Amino acid sequence: MTAFIEEVRRRTSREPACSRSIGNARGGRARKRDPAFVTRIAIIGAGLLGASLADRLAGRGAEVTVVEGSRPGADTSGTSIAWVNAQAKAPAEYFARNVPGVAAHHELAHSLGGDWYHPGGDIAIGHGLAAANVREQIERHRALDCDVHELDRSAVAALEPDLDLCDDEAFAGAHFPAEARIDVPGLIGRLLRRARSSGARILCDVEVVDLETQNGRVVQIVTQSGDRLTADLFVLAAGPASERLAGLAGVSLPMAPTPGLLVGTVPVALSVAHVIHAEDVTLRPDGGDRLMVASRHVDATLDHAIREIAMDMEPCRDLLARARQLIPDLGDAGLEAARIGVRSVAVDGMPVAGFAPSMDNLYLLVSHRGATIAPVLGELVAGELLGERREELEPTDRTRFV
Ligand SMILES: Cc1cc2nc3c(=O)[nH]c(=O)nc-3n(C[C@H](O)[C@H](O)[C@H](O)COP(=O)(O)OP(=O)(O)OC[C@H]3O[C@@H](n4cnc5c(N)ncnc54)[C@H](O)[C@@H]3O)c2cc1C
Repeated sequence: MTAFIEEVRRRTSREPACSRSIGNARGGRARKRDPAFVTRIAIIGAGLLGASLADRLAGRGAEVTVVEGSRPGADTSGTSIAWVNAQAKAPAEYFARNVPGVAAHHELAHSLGGDWYHPGGDIAIGHGLAAANVREQIERHRALDCDVHELDRSAVAALEPDLDLCDDEAFAGAHFPAEARIDVPGLIGRLLRRARSSGARILCDVEVVDLETQNGRVVQIVTQSGDRLTADLFVLAAGPASERLAGLAGVSLPMAPTPGLLVGTVPVALSVAHVIHAEDVTLRPDGGDRLMVASRHVDATLDHAIREIAMDMEPCRDLLARARQLIPDLGDAGLEAARIGVRSVAVDGMPVAGFAPSMDNLYLLVSHRGATIAPVLGELVAGELLGERREELEPTDRTRFV
């Protein structure tokens, strides 16, 4: 028995023995994608996209192995604002695709259980010129029959009494009751547990260092310890590392990862209940009376090479100042945490979900806004991998870069 199989046993101790589960591919080209024929699927990466896909595939009887280089949710998924929303999405067709993503979370919360899902919607406010942006979001939601309530100052104040709604300018407010926030690591844990109970293997601390190819197919992946895993199909769901890993198979996946800063306050005696979106600032409850704060304007100032940041550095202080402007009662409450996340995004900003054009059993799965659309993408991609034609996925096809 290889060390790799022993590793499988060790890391999946509640599973039955799996000595025959990692064998040679069953021959033939995966292009046929007959569900009875293609069943062994290796997913590289246990972020939210990999975990959502593993859950859907295992639930449909596929033989799934998830290979995670670190621990589930260790990369982008662990540093997400995790606001499930369909706002500020352009182009319009992308906005429309996020709408089912919002609804899918309600259903998933029902079927999966757990306390990762925090419904109640979110609130957008805008003053002066920014009021027009809020009104635009309201119109977009109405055009797609999504629930939205336009709010005046007093209605916002009734929902969020700690917000400063300065009354000297034009104002627009909105409540999007279907939107939510989620605990991404909590959701990933639940998805992987359900996948495992459907027979999936979840390997952690098993880093993929090479993808070996032959005649336009990936034949096996090689791990850091030199072990090899064969499968019929390989899915690259490695977040920001996907471009580099795709390159190992000779596949170009042009990505533009960008850093995002999240700061967390110390516990504060305030009553913030929703995700609040105020122009460039997003602020949300973060458990234990803490608040999480982010700003796309602050993100735009970050050095792209940055991966760690101290709480007393200027971007963190800037975020805290923006939060205080919004909620003056924050007073001199300080920060407790500061994290940099890397947005996992293709150069054109749109999701990539499709077979690599030159490697017919390598599927590429990369998306920003993954916290919103992972349940929908997981379902669609599972169908596609098992032989269903999914027209909804056509705009995400990797061939757009060719
Ligand atoms: C600051 C920030 C804020 C965000 N806010 C929101 C939001 O409000 N709403 C929203 O919908 N989305 C948001 N997102 C985006 C969302 O978090 C991501 O789209 C999503 O988490 C991506 O998940 P993923 O599974 O594709 O990638 P990841 O979570 O990065 O998962 C990839 C996994 O692959 C593993 N891996 C990498 N290399 C290897 C290897 N060689 N071998 C094996 N495993 C490997 C990693 O360890 C990791 O666990 C935000 C992102 C950031 C950075």
